[in-house]
Amino acid sequence: MTTDVTTLVSRNPADPSDVLVRLRTPGAFAAADAVERARAAQPGWLRSGAAARSAALVAVAAALETAADELAALAVREVGKPLAEARAEVARTVAIWRYYAQAPYEPTGAVHETAAGPGLLLTRRRPHGVAGLVTPWNFPFAIPSWKAAPALAVGNAVVLKPAPEATACAQRLAEIVREALPEKVFTVLPGGPTEGNALVSAADAVSFTGSTPVGRAVVRAATARGIPAQAEMGGLNAAIVLPDADIGRAAAHIAAAVAGFAGQKCTATSRIVAVGTALYPLREALSEAFRAVRVGDPADPETVCGPLVHESARERVAESWQGLPALAGATVPATPGWYAAPTLVEKVPPGHRLLNEEVFGPVAALLPADDLDHAVRITNSVPYGLVTSVHTADLDTALHGLDLVDTGMIRINAPSTGVDFHLPFGGAKQSGHGPREQGRAALDFYTSSRTYTLAP
Ligand code: NAD
Repeated sequence: MTTDVTTLVSRNPADPSDVLVRLRTPGAFAAADAVERARAAQPGWLRSGAAARSAALVAVAAALETAADELAALAVREVGKPLAEARAEVARTVAIWRYYAQAPYEPTGAVHETAAGPGLLLTRRRPHGVAGLVTPWNFPFAIPSWKAAPALAVGNAVVLKPAPEATACAQRLAEIVREALPEKVFTVLPGGPTEGNALVSAADAVSFTGSTPVGRAVVRAATARGIPAQAEMGGLNAAIVLPDADIGRAAAHIAAAVAGFAGQKCTATSRIVAVGTALYPLREALSEAFRAVRVGDPADPETVCGPLVHESARERVAESWQGLPALAGATVPATPGWYAAPTLVEKVPPGHRLLNEEVFGPVAALLPADDLDHAVRITNSVPYGLVTSVHTADLDTALHGLDLVDTGMIRINAPSTGVDFHLPFGGAKQSGHGPREQGRAALDFYTSSRTYTLAP
């Protein structure tokens, strides 16, 4: 038995008296044990063959689709995700499992001629063994799925350590996934840092999504063990608006990207860079768009901005912009939920924390830029590099004017938020480490290449 057990409580952020989960966390020993059991089950899963693995992933997708309404309601209740976004997340999760169900049939290598003489050379990708997944709470179905589905498709077993705030969602996901898979091929290990850390110490590869300080520690621990590691971390994303943009449309996209799900997305916009004469019309349009944001009960299908996940998050958001002039803010419902008003601030002095740290709430700074080069310098002036959105009528400016922007993704005339699961996803600088997630990139991460020599 371990002595590091502690109590985990998961509450409804819109009504903190509503407790979804209360459990004793299993501790570090349980993490090591889960990995050992998964390691014993993995060879059988790999050898079950492409058709069996593909069929299992198809079955998971079908079961998730059947449970879609229930899963969306659970995400609303456990993490405060607005219903429309929760439904979209579940639909995307179904599509992710379907997409990776084709992966077992993909080629795993290539045939080459030898440099001299007869024989052949082959390359072949093979799974690592047990993939340890450490995930955040804000996409409680999609993020575990975009890691687990490719890992399983190529023949790994999976141990998932979800965020404590999303424990009920992870447990429900596990029930559904396990129905379709052999015993111990997919395990959910509830808990917090103790279990996460122990999983990183025992797994054969680690995929992490979460905050930058934790992600960097996870990468250091994995690198010290010499195992493959990837980490997708925080963001401090800019939206650049040029004078030729459709300002009304840009403002609507930006307000949604700042305030949607109360700004609790790694891809949320937190800096708005207005180039030249765009500043004044944009300022007007944003004030209007922020005031119009529907804040309130996440179970209401019209709600855009629900509560923050913790009481402490509400304090952090309020402190983040204290003392700065606020241009606009929507009103917050007078209920016990942990709500924060979407807020747009200006006259932010250089070096202010809003320009350095991820707040993870519905707050954005409006920053003027003299020209596009200046806007690019502002965009790059933070330690993060996840995504930039640019709003302009000129595609050439969008494609080539942002060549020096150091972010993993650029979204043109679209909100900074939004993910296409069949393409690589990830950030530069302190937003990302290691190979990209999603799309075919994920299949490479969850395998390593072996070279075979076939002598005649
Ligand atoms: P977090 O860093 O607090 O926790 C993430 C996970 O790490 C949780 O499962 C947590 O229990 C675990 N953990 C905590 N300490 C650990 C340790 N010492 N060792 C191992 N595991 C540990 O993040 P969060 O609050 O759950 O999520 C919000 C953060 O996630 C934000 O910073 C957001 O930007 C980021 N995020 C990034 C992406 C992306 O793809 N870039 C996507 C979603 C969220």
